[in-house]
Amino acid sequence: FYSGTCRCDDCCIKNEGKKNESFYHNIMGGCIVHPSRKTVIPLAPEAICRQDGSTKNDCEKAAIRRFLAQTKHDHPRLKLVILLDGLYADNPTIAMIREYGWNFIIVAKDGNHVSLIEAMNTLYDEGQVHHHKIVDEENNTTDKFRYANNVPLNLQDETERVNVLDYIEIDKKRIQHVWCWITDIELTDDTVESVMRGGRCRWRIENETFNTLKNQGYQLEHNYGHGEKHLATNFAYLTFLAFLVDQIQELACPKFQQALNKPKKPTRKRLWRKITSFFLTLMIDSWDSLFKAIAHGAKAQKIAFDTS
Ligand SMILES: [Zn+2]
Repeated sequence: FYSGTCRCDDCCIKNEGKKNESFYHNIMGGCIVHPSRKTVIPLAPEAICRQDGSTKNDCEKAAIRRFLAQTKHDHPRLKLVILLDGLYADNPTIAMIREYGWNFIIVAKDGNHVSLIEAMNTLYDEGQVHHHKIVDEENNTTDKFRYANNVPLNLQDETERVNVLDYIEIDKKRIQHVWCWITDIELTDDTVESVMRGGRCRWRIENETFNTLKNQGYQLEHNYGHGEKHLATNFAYLTFLAFLVDQIQELACPKFQQALNKPKKPTRKRLWRKITSFFLTLMIDSWDSLFKAIAHGAKAQKIAFDTS
């Protein structure tokens, strides 16, 4: 939600006190992803809005702490590797993940982690950085790994130590793609490939979650209105809930899968259109028959007038 006029006490404020003052509600989403699974499962999202009585704006860095705490509360026994953007590669977030008994893989970037890169370079000069290479001759690709364990995240405070993985992919066209992650998973020649696959599936969060929610008929970015207080946030929660139900169906319901994958180029938008048109024109006694009719086609019916 974003507006120049409509607001509540929970709204975050941009350009506070200025002429162009504006009000907004954001949301932080996270989901369960797996390197070899296309389907993602969203977890309960966390609203980014002013917390009760606070006069300060909320932000992603504060929201991630509530998000992690809520996830631990909701799924106390679930073993997770927390995959995060470089924004969160700091001591407090890492300490929290360790405290909950999870592992982490976090993007590290040159600009944000100068001392980490310096520490890596020093280790490299000392010959303490390991190298590993996987050549796939069939696909003409090369994976190059450079890694070191037990590196201080921050040179000012050396208590938090992490393992660092530099990775270069040379693709079929011999173009190089470079990544760097920090993790608490011990890096060896045997583990670097799995950690890399884990790190790279973060794009599924962007692609399969946020892009789907924005562009595949869920209209997450549409401004449905502010309401009195929590309406905008509740609309976003409902959108995530709808997405969760659809993802579970996509993962586990063969009839939904058939209905979705019927055309040569299946899109969710097409399926939503079909469902809507069937709902508006036909009496449907069960989800089974709805999905069956979409997958196999429904018999054309003569138009009938409502004479009641
Ligand atoms: Zn508000």
